[in-house]
Amino acid sequence: MVKPTSTPTFARKPVLAVPVSATQKAWLSAMGVDVPWIVGQPIKKPTLAASAAPVEPVVHSKDTTPESRLDTPEPESTVRADALIKPLKASQTAKKTTTGVRESVGDLSGLSLDDLRAKITPCQACGLCEQRTHAVSGEGSDTPDLVIVGEAPGEQEDLEGRPFVGRSGALLSNMLRAINLDRSAQVFITNVVKCRPPANRNPREDEISACLPYLHRQIALLQPKVVLAMGRFAAHALLQTSEPLQKLRQQNQVLGPSIGSIPVVVTYHPAYLLRRPVDKRLAWEDLKRAQAYLRVAH
Ligand code: URA
Repeated sequence: MVKPTSTPTFARKPVLAVPVSATQKAWLSAMGVDVPWIVGQPIKKPTLAASAAPVEPVVHSKDTTPESRLDTPEPESTVRADALIKPLKASQTAKKTTTGVRESVGDLSGLSLDDLRAKITPCQACGLCEQRTHAVSGEGSDTPDLVIVGEAPGEQEDLEGRPFVGRSGALLSNMLRAINLDRSAQVFITNVVKCRPPANRNPREDEISACLPYLHRQIALLQPKVVLAMGRFAAHALLQTSEPLQKLRQQNQVLGPSIGSIPVVVTYHPAYLLRRPVDKRLAWEDLKRAQAYLRVAH
């Protein structure tokens, strides 16, 4: 056997140090993100022009628990939210139910945030009103840097009338702290549908269509620097697409001019991340992109 004359040397790949403060590190650990992994790997610096860092293939598993519905591979036709940017006509949102024809949410253009809340609380535009405890309008700053859009209230949210107060909410708060955002001071949190689907089933297309004008009006009033769409229901409804979430989160997205041409960052839903903690590092890339938008808009 021929002995090598010298020890081979391997060129080290350049490592881009992502600036992570001690506080951020603490919150990232709380999120379950392996901080040394983040700072030790060549992660692309977030820029507005560049797409996110390369993504490893995500293996999705399916089971019957409600949270598993989030971000599992979906058929092409999963959710087609109606007339997302254009105001919906009454005829498009009126739904026949067992209790008769429902009224659409109507023209919201003159309404303030308080008006909207007052309208959402007793809303009967879709059948979800029949089993809800509370409609969950949303909460947070009236002048937020970031608007977060989730899917629909869960059990705890339905009971309390507040968004993201369960386990997903705890993770969401940690994710926000990781990018130095205070949940109540700089953020407004809401959902695509404002009432809990029974047994946490998926919101239906007609329910999303009926409720979406509320979300559009909220975002138009709040004019955040960026919208964070969490999970495929939020991404599909806001962007009027049925593209896979993994693809959407790597693209630069923007809401239509009638809402204010606001950038949208797509990421995983916290409930999905609770089930697949390994994907928190991908969500971290998305959060850094959102943070980059906030910095640019300062
Ligand atoms: N999941 C959501 O999408 N929204 C909530 O408010 C809570 C859990």
